[in-house]
Amino acid sequence: MPPSTTPRGRARAGLIFGDLWDFDPAPETADPKLKERYDLFIDGRFVRPRSGRYFDSINPANERKLADIALAGTADVDAAYAAAARAFRPWAATPGRERGKYLFRIARLLQDRAREFAVAETMDGGKPIRESRDFDVPMAAAHFFYHAGWADKLEYVAPGRAVAPLGVVGQVIPWNFPLLMLAWKLAPALAMGNCVVLKPAETTSITALKLAEILQDAGLPPGVANFVTGAGETGALVMGHPGAAKVAFTGSTEVGKAIMRQLAGTDRRMTMELGGKAANIVFDDAPIDQAVEGIVDGIFFNQGHVCCAGSRLLVHEPVADRVISKLKDRIRVLRVGDPLDKNTDLGAINSKAQLATIRRLVAAGVREGAVLFQPPCRLPERGFYFPPTLFTNVTQSHRIAREEIFGPVLAILTFRTVDEAIEKANNTPYGLSAGVWTDKGSRILRMSTELKAGVVWANTFNRFDPSSPFGGYKESGFGREGGRQGLLDYSRRA
Ligand code: NAD
Repeated sequence: MPPSTTPRGRARAGLIFGDLWDFDPAPETADPKLKERYDLFIDGRFVRPRSGRYFDSINPANERKLADIALAGTADVDAAYAAAARAFRPWAATPGRERGKYLFRIARLLQDRAREFAVAETMDGGKPIRESRDFDVPMAAAHFFYHAGWADKLEYVAPGRAVAPLGVVGQVIPWNFPLLMLAWKLAPALAMGNCVVLKPAETTSITALKLAEILQDAGLPPGVANFVTGAGETGALVMGHPGAAKVAFTGSTEVGKAIMRQLAGTDRRMTMELGGKAANIVFDDAPIDQAVEGIVDGIFFNQGHVCCAGSRLLVHEPVADRVISKLKDRIRVLRVGDPLDKNTDLGAINSKAQLATIRRLVAAGVREGAVLFQPPCRLPERGFYFPPTLFTNVTQSHRIAREEIFGPVLAILTFRTVDEAIEKANNTPYGLSAGVWTDKGSRILRMSTELKAGVVWANTFNRFDPSSPFGGYKESGFGREGGRQGLLDYSRRA
């Protein structure tokens, strides 16, 4: 068999899959039912911003404008908080089983419109349709289902202690999992009896406003959930509003710190879900082929725009060459391109600004002496794209090993002993997640105890479940989302 007839042989020969097998385009064709203009969702209705101002939401895959999005200012955020405050008492007094019904309805309506939402999410954010269809949308529905189930069982959230809602909660979310992050925030807050003012990220507001249509269809009482759109200034208004009993933020550590400074000295409760620089640790007794798949999933899922991405690979020296060679083979066959194509593995980078950040950090890696590997790769001419990238010869002091790149870029380091692996993995200001690949249960137990990370995956990576709390240590933030712990963060002692 000539070497170029197997994927591995073709990869060795320096050919990319697409050179030999040009796949026919397989675009997802469901209608995303986009509107030309999206207004604010306040008090159960879509309303124009008082400023009359709008900004563009564009498709990062081709830089075409998708819609006008309302820009909320002070008066709009005030109106959203006023609506939420009016809605709070009756909503909190609604029996849990009734609140649960609304959440069940939201989950089912989202399932009914799943394909439409998946296409809208992919067009607005750039992620492959395979991911928005098979992960983001079903997982968002799962969060509403899960919390619907809790709504009439809240006496078991904190056994021996009665809990009550906090009031109006201000929430700000990022652009990497727009609908899912919204579900992580909205579902537990509502199940517990709180009302919400939420701001989606400025590059990905559309699915939040589509979900607002579902909230209307579900008959959710006006004011229980309000969505205001805009950029950082609007976010600061939502976080700093005196009407908030609690603020819940997901985003960068830098902005998280700014919010904490803004709210220092107030009695505002806070949860912060911030950045990460996870270590994915592969020992010499690991199932290497599975580990390679886990490494690929850990760093290239959603173009690496993942807070818990396995962006640092720590590989045991005896298997380092083997793992790196297999990784190179594997990423040669990743397909980068149109996110709406069902065969695409890596879609578009979310924004021009994020692409510039990735390029800047990759250039720093090269400058500081790490060795770059990128497979030959044809990138679309329009839109924001970056090829899958590996760096070897990385040291702990390199910026690519310390800073969150939030792109498809893996920094590879090696280790010789378990202690060295733990030391290197924990040598970061972050502490969100980690992965361990080994055949030994005892080693998994030791690593999961000593790694300072909110989540440690063993022989897998990027597994999520609504019942499983997620959150960080150190500069990755505090508070948990999901599970009983996530609900507790939206409650107080009754
Ligand atoms: P970002 O911090 O720039 O923006 C996040 C959100 O904050 C956006 O909606 C933005 O408009 C808003 N914002 C910006 N400035 C603000 C301010 N001064 N006050 C209030 N709000 C403000 O982050 P990003 O680039 O959108 O998202 C990527 C970051 O999010 C990464 O660091 C990633 O690790 C993190 N993230 C964390 C988790 C987690 O669960 N820990 C999940 C997803 C993403």
